[in-house]
Amino acid sequence: MKKSYKTMTRPELEAEIVSLRAAYDAKVKKGLKLDMSRGKPSTEQLDLSNEMLTVLHGDDCKTETGFDVRNYGVLAGIPEARRFIAELCSVSPENVIMGGSASLEVMYNALMRAMIFGVDKESEPWAKQGKIKFLCPAPGYDRHFGMCQDLCIEMINIKMTDEGPDMDEVERLVASDSSVKGMWCVPKYSNPDGVTYSEKTVRRIADLDHAAPDFRVFWDNAYIVHDLTDTPDELINIFDLTRGTKNEDMVYMFVSTAKISFPGAGISAFISSEKNVAEALSHINFQTISYDKINQLRHVRYFGNADGVREHMKRHASILYPKFKIVLDALDSELGGLDVAEWRRPNGGYFVSFYAMPGTAKRIGELCKGAGVTLTSVGATYPYGVDPDDSNIRIAPSYPTTEELKAAMEVFVICVRLAAAEKLLSK
Ligand code: PLP
Repeated sequence: MKKSYKTMTRPELEAEIVSLRAAYDAKVKKGLKLDMSRGKPSTEQLDLSNEMLTVLHGDDCKTETGFDVRNYGVLAGIPEARRFIAELCSVSPENVIMGGSASLEVMYNALMRAMIFGVDKESEPWAKQGKIKFLCPAPGYDRHFGMCQDLCIEMINIKMTDEGPDMDEVERLVASDSSVKGMWCVPKYSNPDGVTYSEKTVRRIADLDHAAPDFRVFWDNAYIVHDLTDTPDELINIFDLTRGTKNEDMVYMFVSTAKISFPGAGISAFISSEKNVAEALSHINFQTISYDKINQLRHVRYFGNADGVREHMKRHASILYPKFKIVLDALDSELGGLDVAEWRRPNGGYFVSFYAMPGTAKRIGELCKGAGVTLTSVGATYPYGVDPDDSNIRIAPSYPTTEELKAAMEVFVICVRLAAAEKLLSK
């Protein structure tokens, strides 16, 4: 039976530190170089989609309507690609605009259009309305926060719960402050917590009363089909709830095949009401003549339909699941019962969200670095890179090999224990 660190006497903590230091120094001597920082698919996962590179040939580059994808045109995307994304997201093809090779650019463009032109013809550009704010469920995705920072949009932290963002706080802020123009959401297997918004949460978001008429929800469905287990989370379709209501135009959804096919070389889409789609196209029309339709056709030919994607994702899961298990097993066996941390057990997505004893995450990051293990920058999961509790660490198990991951986790758990013992002793 392990003893909780919080119940240890000072001499017991001192002895623990001595033995942990020895274990840590032994790891340092190994000169490891391991990376658990970014949620990148491994080479083995990328190989799953290799056939896509040969699925298309010069003499067979026509869409179902006979359009040659090698040429300019079809701004909103080829019909079969819009239908493919629509099926995957349970919307109509008319609600889909195909974007470029990754979704972050689609999000950034949506933000820029709102800043410069306003969300529709009746609204003032956000950039002309003085200080504007975004609600940021945190921990969240660092690149969402980076976009806001880049565009001088003030960010407000919203606590994450087991059911998604703290909706009492969201409702209060959105209803009372007309400078709150947007909210980031990663509704399925959120980055990094792996939380899927409950039906109640999605309903409350769909029903939001917003003081700003031009308030928009940025619904980044990056992990829409990224299940790890046979008992996947279910996310209800927000558009089924907003269609025909006062909030019909409130939601901008984004998806991509980044972690389905090739990150940075997949297909992406903007999904919204028909009014928002028309508004977006009226600007995109000047931005480009058309996106990469060769890639769109390649994806449709390779996957066929949404079921094809779901089958493919099972192959990803069979590579990813053992890696998540290595992480969770290491945490359970080495940290369980010590009262030094908590961690989530996601059913999908790309991360294990780890909550160290408050005030120790930065120290853990430093210790890991000293022993050759790179973690996502501690704090990066919060707006402005500041975790108010200095606690959350995003563990990304996908990229390292299983052997590397085991080695990295051995270092990680020592660092967590050491940082916690030091912290308790400093009190
Ligand atoms: N959105 C979220 C929540 C992510 O976690 C990621 C990648 O980690 C992305 C978007 C990136 O998507 P893309 O490669 O399509 O730009």
